[in-house]
Formats: sequence, structure tokens, C-alpha cells
Amino acid sequence: MTTNGTIENGLSLPQPVSILEILHHKIFINNDWHQSVSRRTFPVYNPATDEKICDVQEADKADVDKAVEAARAAFQRGSPWRRLDASGRGKLLHKLADLLERDRDILATLETMDTGKPFLLAYFVDLEACIRTLRYFAGWADKIQGRTIPVDESYLCYTVHEPMGVCGAITPWNFPLMMLIWKMGPALCCGNTMVIKPAEQTPLTSLYIGSLIEEAGFPPGVVNILPGFGPTAGSAISHHPDIDKVAFTGSTEIGKLIKEAASASNLKRVTLELGGKNPCIVFADADLEQAVKYAHQGVFFNQGQCCTAASRVFVEEAVYPEFVKRSVDYAKKRLLGDPFEFNTEQGPQIDKKQFNKVLELIQSGKDEGAKLECGGCSVGERGLFIKPTVFSAVTDDMRIAKEEIFGPVQSILKFKHMEEVIQRANSTEYGLTAAVFTESLDKALTVASALQSGTVWINCYNALHAQTPFGGFKMSGNGRELGEYALAEYTEVKTVTIKLSTKKL
Ligand code: NAP
Ligand code: MG
Repeated sequence: MTTNGTIENGLSLPQPVSILEILHHKIFINNDWHQSVSRRTFPVYNPATDEKICDVQEADKADVDKAVEAARAAFQRGSPWRRLDASGRGKLLHKLADLLERDRDILATLETMDTGKPFLLAYFVDLEACIRTLRYFAGWADKIQGRTIPVDESYLCYTVHEPMGVCGAITPWNFPLMMLIWKMGPALCCGNTMVIKPAEQTPLTSLYIGSLIEEAGFPPGVVNILPGFGPTAGSAISHHPDIDKVAFTGSTEIGKLIKEAASASNLKRVTLELGGKNPCIVFADADLEQAVKYAHQGVFFNQGQCCTAASRVFVEEAVYPEFVKRSVDYAKKRLLGDPFEFNTEQGPQIDKKQFNKVLELIQSGKDEGAKLECGGCSVGERGLFIKPTVFSAVTDDMRIAKEEIFGPVQSILKFKHMEEVIQRANSTEYGLTAAVFTESLDKALTVASALQSGTVWINCYNALHAQTPFGGFKMSGNGRELGEYALAEYTEVKTVTIKLSTKKL
């Protein structure tokens, strides 16, 4: 897709579903829809219009207990799920991918209503990634193998990679469906069962997936989905003594609570995908137009609400003024508005809390002496829209250079030397992604090797693939999602050692 929402190669554009009844707003346990034990519900809003979409059943600890019981029963030895052979699990995941393809327009419409992200991006980026991820892990289901290990010749020793058991998943609101599928693909292909809590702001696509899980033919209890709040339902998952593993995507602050809860309960395995303050380094010898474009998309994509956001752009002195000028041109041209309009590039922020947080950080940039080049305020009477904002003359000590903003704010810093920029890029508690733009292979590889970061992009940005591992160094997280590496996060290794008979045969 091109940035103005048209499609190359003359393909026709997908259409959002014009009248969409919200069919799935209850708790999904054992392939069935339930009211919450407390009978409470909570409202879900469209951030582009401030209108309520629907009320959703509010899961709490009692519902989590029911879901864990279902997931545990589905995981018992001899259950239909455990008896299913590995290729059968792959087939089910392919079937689920088929259903996502079939209902792609519905899911993209729901995701847009719930998050405010542009429909075409939901359709072409989020849904594409989900379908590819499911198919990638479907392929792995019957290729998860242990090893035979040479030991003392009187033994035969082999390993088996077994599913962990009941896996909790706690997901964020910025990529609700994608973050769910990143967890569901590997968890299910390895043979686990799941208890899932989507973010309170954006439960609708996750709940829709419940209906597809049932239609695909997954046995009851394999996947359970509980809309609710972090401190109640989320906390019940992370503290649950009968959950074997929890995978979380969200803030570093809550990531710490998840680990504490795991320690305080049963030492469940934990994988965390947390925030970032990602450096994007542009050398003077880079293809400047490409670097400006990628840095722009890198920070403004998804309303700036990305853990991968290029939120510290370091530009070499010689090209700094030109880089700033071109970046401002791009930001000023970025089209804000109704996410269902095909030309819209930027929708609203997710909720009032995030909206206020971004505006407060913008104010801190002004107060601390950064130069506001464009934007810097909200726009419109309705919806939570913030103008694409560019700051130049940003220094390392400013809050906009240190804190995760999670909004449409580009901070551009200046550097002189490679060693200096490496040191400054690494001076953060985070280490999720980084990018470097240069025509010099030596420079690119030296910087890639020196950066403390789970992913380094060279002359590109946000190049994510189902096949490649994703995760953070330092306080950006623990463990990896996607790729073959993700399988290790959803399996336990069992060592079996057999004493061979010494009797003469
Ligand atoms: P968050 O609180 O970390 O939310 C992520 C998920 O964790 C949600 O499902 C949330 O439920 C749940 N949660 C909250 N408290 C919990 C607890 N005590 N125990 C278990 N689960 C809990 O993130 P946020 O408040 O929505 O956003 C705050 C900041 O987090 C953002 O500004 C951004 O910097 C960062 N963030 C990062 C990512 C990422 O992709 N790494 C995604 C989203 C946000 P609720 O729905 O009730 O909150
Ligand atoms: Mg929260």
C-alpha cells in the first residue's frame, strides 16, 4: 500500500463493514459465552468519536478461576487436545488463519473502531501480520523436536520439548490482535492451553477470535478469553497458582508487577515485551530522503503508539538542518482524521489518559528548551487527536529524550562522532529496537554490533517478520516472541536418560 491509501498494481481497496453488530461481548470459556460472575460490565469507546461502542462483560478473579479450570482440564493427559497429533495442531492453526482471511474486513473494521488506527493499516499491516504469524507457527507444530545426546556409553539420553501447560496472555491496546496472535501462534503450536486478558480499552477483536477458535474446531477450554481490567483480571492471571506461564506486552511498570506476582505465587515462567526509547541513527552519508521517510514512519506510525517508535532520532551534524527541515515537511503533510477515510494516515490517541500524558510530555519539551518545529497541541472538538509534533535541538537530559512518549512526537538530536552516538544511544534503561542509516557497511555493522538492543534495522525501519525473533535487552523485556526462538518460551525441556543393559545379548 502507498502512504496515501491507494494500492499499487491496480488492486481494489478493501471496504470496512458499514453496519457491524457487535456479537461477541461476553467472556469466552470452554468455547462458550458467559456472563461475568459479578454480572458487571464495562463500556468500550471509539476514540475517534468518543462514542460508546458497547458494554462488555467484566471478568474478575472468579472468572479467571473458571477459565483456568477449563484450560487445565483441556490440558490433562488424554484430553482431546493432548491426544491430537502435532500435525493436527498445525491444521487447526491453518484453519484459524483461513478464518481470519475470510473475516479480515470485519476484524479490521472492529480494530479500527476500537483503537482509532486507520482502517487500511489495520487491514494491510495488522491483519496481514496476524495471518502470516498463524501460518508460520502452524508450520512449526510438527517440527518441534528434541535431541539425542551422547553421554557415557552405558546410557541413551534424549530430550523432549513438551508444552508448558496453561499459559496466561496479557495484551496491550496498541496492536490488540497482533499482540494476541504473537502469543497464540507459538503457545498453541507447542500444545499449550491459554487464558487471555486483552487490554480494557480494546477487547473486541480478541473476543471475535473466540468465535473463530470455536469454528476452527479447537477443543473446548484450549483458548479462553476474558475482557477485564489489569489490577483485577490481569493480576489474577499473574498471581494464579495453576497458570504455568504468562506472556505480557505493555509498560515496564506493569511488567515488573507481573514478575513480582510470578515470584509471589508459583514462579510461573514469564516473558515480557515492554517499552522502548529507540535510537534511530542517521549518518551524513545516508540516503537522506530514505532516512527522513523511515524515521518519520518509524515514530508516527500507529499514532506514535508503538514500543518500536523511533523516539530518539540522532542525526549527524552535517545533515542536521536539512534532516529537520524535511522531517517537518513530512509531519506537516501527515493527514489526521477519520480512521475510516482512506487517505487518513493518523487517527486519535487511544484514551484520555494517554492523550493527556502525550500533551504533558510535549509541554515538558517546550519548557525544557527544545525547539518546537511543528504541531505541539491537540486538534478538533471530537476525538483524541494530536498534531504530528517535531522537536529539534533536543538534548539527552530532556524528558522527551528519556521517557517513552507513546504519541506522535519526534525528537531530533544532533551528534558529531560514531563513538559518541553509540554511547548516547545506549544510555537508557531500554533496549528494544534501534536503526542505523548509512551507506557505509563498516559503520552500519560497527554500530549494529555496539548497540544494546534486541533488534537493529539497517537502512529500514519496523521491518518485522513472523520468522524473526523480537524482544528486548535490558528493561525492554525478557524472552523473545516470533521466530523459532519463541518456541523455547512455550516449551519445557525434559531429559530422559536410559540405562542400557550390560547383560550379554
Ligand atoms: P499497561 O497498564 O502496561 O497495560 C498492558 C496490559 O496489562 C493491559 O491488558 C492492562 O490492563 C494490563 N495490566 C495493567 N495492570 C496490571 C496488573 N497489575 N496486573 C496484570 N496486568 C495488568 O499499559 P497502559 O497503562 O495501557 O499504557 C501505559 C504505557 O505503557 C504507555 O504509555 C506505553 O508507554 C506503555 N505501553 C507499551 C506497550 C508495548 O507495546 N510495549 C503497549 C501499551 C502500552 P488494563 O487494560 O486494565 O490497563
Ligand atoms: Mg493500564
